[in-house]
Amino acid sequence: MPIHEKSLIEPERILTKESLVVDGVDVSGHWNTMILPRTITEYDDTFEDKIKQYPTAANVHRCWQCGSCTNSCTVYALNTRFNPRYWIYLTRLGLKDELVKDKDIIWQCVSCNKCTNICPKDVRPEGVMKALAHWMEDEGITEKRPSTIFDEEFWEQIAERGRIEEGSILMNFFKKTAQPLKQDWLVDVVKRMTKHLPLGALIHSGLHFVFKPKVKSWDRTGQVLKEYINEKKGAVHG
Ligand code: SF4
Ligand code: SF4
Repeated sequence: MPIHEKSLIEPERILTKESLVVDGVDVSGHWNTMILPRTITEYDDTFEDKIKQYPTAANVHRCWQCGSCTNSCTVYALNTRFNPRYWIYLTRLGLKDELVKDKDIIWQCVSCNKCTNICPKDVRPEGVMKALAHWMEDEGITEKRPSTIFDEEFWEQIAERGRIEEGSILMNFFKKTAQPLKQDWLVDVVKRMTKHLPLGALIHSGLHFVFKPKVKSWDRTGQVLKEYINEKKGAVHG
């Protein structure tokens, strides 16, 4: 189903004439706006399948373009260029270059999931937005967002030890995102912890921060998890 939305057409392709006569008939005022045609040849017919390899976008093929996701979208209400229906349409057609034109806004989804709740086909548009943003990071089209860097740090600790240690996650996240380790809010949290937590709990978390223990018998489980993730990544980048 083609998209007909004036906001999606480049302004230079929209022609408006004050007066228009066609075959001797004055149609001014009725047919005074025309769209210059364009030819697109760069369809990638593997693209939809590639995006479907991201687990959150597995249902993208179900979309029937009803537009409910866009109509309900929190970000669309503020910026009409943020258009989940349109991006799902482009994904299904394999028009990667068109998607990349919106690389600076696709990641702005706030995960409110209003689109997912309203979608009649269980496409889960929020997950598709996430998958597209991840695809752009994976392809080097956009830089990794802080949320991705945080997720990676979280995952690395789980894979390695079967548990996370909050202090190390924060510290490594700050380092990787070039943020100062000493932040006012963090100092405040530490002060409150030392004031309110029992001494035993403080010693326990201090020991975990220093020695980073693993969950018992984690090595094999962690290995299986890593293999699974690598297999999934291989399917995406294959
Ligand atoms: S609400 Fe669902 S079916 Fe409708 S356009 Fe959005 S993703 Fe497609
Ligand atoms: S989850 Fe994202 S795409 Fe869906 S309605 Fe909210 S902001 Fe829009």
